[in-house]
Amino acid sequence: MRIDVLTLFPEMCEGVFGTSIVGKAREKGIVSLNAVNFRDFSGNKHGSVDDTPYGGGGGMVLKPDPIFAAVEHVLEEAENGERPPRIILMCPQGKPYTQRIAEELAREEHLIFICGHYEGYDERIREHLVTDELSIGDYVLTGGELPALTVIDSVVRLQPGALGNETSAVTDSFSTGLLEYPHYTRPVEFRGWKVPDILLSGHHANIEDWRREQALKRTLTRRPDLLDSANLTDKDRRMLERLRKEQL
Ligand code: SAM
Repeated sequence: MRIDVLTLFPEMCEGVFGTSIVGKAREKGIVSLNAVNFRDFSGNKHGSVDDTPYGGGGGMVLKPDPIFAAVEHVLEEAENGERPPRIILMCPQGKPYTQRIAEELAREEHLIFICGHYEGYDERIREHLVTDELSIGDYVLTGGELPALTVIDSVVRLQPGALGNETSAVTDSFSTGLLEYPHYTRPVEFRGWKVPDILLSGHHANIEDWRREQALKRTLTRRPDLLDSANLTDKDRRMLERLRKEQL
């Protein structure tokens, strides 16, 4: 997979690209990660990439030409894959980002992220260049780098071989449609708080049942909205019925 991030602050990306699981995935050649400064494509000697908005009002607007030129440069440089790249505009008005979208993007060959700043983008970028618009939540950050890096981190960790333990992404919150069950490690007793006996029993089937029940319970109490679209078995539904009665 190849990922390019168009940004005015490539140094913000390099830290994340070289660290932890994302850094290891890059080292192993699982993903190629590039930060491209679109100021290099300003086409003027001052390197200016923004201008005042037509119609007046405060704030500066990112001009279309440097961003179109930077995307075209990346497209020329990249090998043509089987599928065309996804060109993703990070913006608070975009589609709310979820684990389902992470899974969908993880199957792509090439992702290009565009990070905004200032008041926003010239609308022609949105209309004629991008394939997707993504928001990481209903709040406004100063720039698109942290949102893009959030998406990239969640996509890279889904690449085969990126995580040490292949199964760990499978049981993660949202991957199963539910929040994940609680975890415990040594010591068996800490300040008088003990690990649940079932986890020490060595009985794998009972442990799986307990984990499923905990995941259902946690989802019911914290995010009941997720239950509407979760893939539930008859046994899950019976468990949920019991948990709901216990709540009353
Ligand atoms: N004026 C814009 C609006 O009201 O929609 C907000 C611009 S914001 C200050 C600057 C840039 O930060 C955006 O262009 C976008 O790239 C990024 N950004 C801010 N909040 C975001 C969010 N919740 N999700 C994705 N990107 C965001």
